[in-house]
Amino acid sequence: MTRATDCIFCKIVAVEIPAAVVFENDSIFAFLDVGPLAEGHLLVIPRDHYANLVELPSSLCAQIGSLIPKLGRVLLDVTAAEGFNLLANQGRVAGQVVPHVHFHLIPRVADDQLGYRWNAGEYPPGRSEELAAAYQAALAEHED
Ligand code: 5GP
Ligand code: ZN
Repeated sequence: MTRATDCIFCKIVAVEIPAAVVFENDSIFAFLDVGPLAEGHLLVIPRDHYANLVELPSSLCAQIGSLIPKLGRVLLDVTAAEGFNLLANQGRVAGQVVPHVHFHLIPRVADDQLGYRWNAGEYPPGRSEELAAAYQAALAEHED
């Protein structure tokens, strides 16, 4: 088990602080967010401490990902939600407050005023093709 000192989510996994646990297995923990954006707001985390998705082994990410559809179906069953947002903030600049990688499942109902649309930009001619080429080259370089 990899854990970080003073990590609130590591303490939840170790049952050193309480949480309303929804699911657990050898590698994954899911529990209710203590500050819900909507009733039933879930957090899904690996038991082991990784600060963010960039550090998370892809096999562990795949295990978490394969749990999401079922958790989503259950969320729709258990709450009044008609949909949900799956959200994972990476890095402080992106709004990540707890540096132990986590996925939010945020239940949504019509007119709940939570919003989600950000201001979209647009590319000058040629820039999207340049970026796509840079992404393709970098993907060929990086390991899975
Ligand atoms: P972030 O902003 O890092 O993406 O989200 C962190 C989330 O963790 C927040 O929604 C916050 O309410 C939740 N959170 C922080 N501390 C605790 C805690 O001690 N227990 C639980 N259940 N959730 C927490
Ligand atoms: Zn941790």
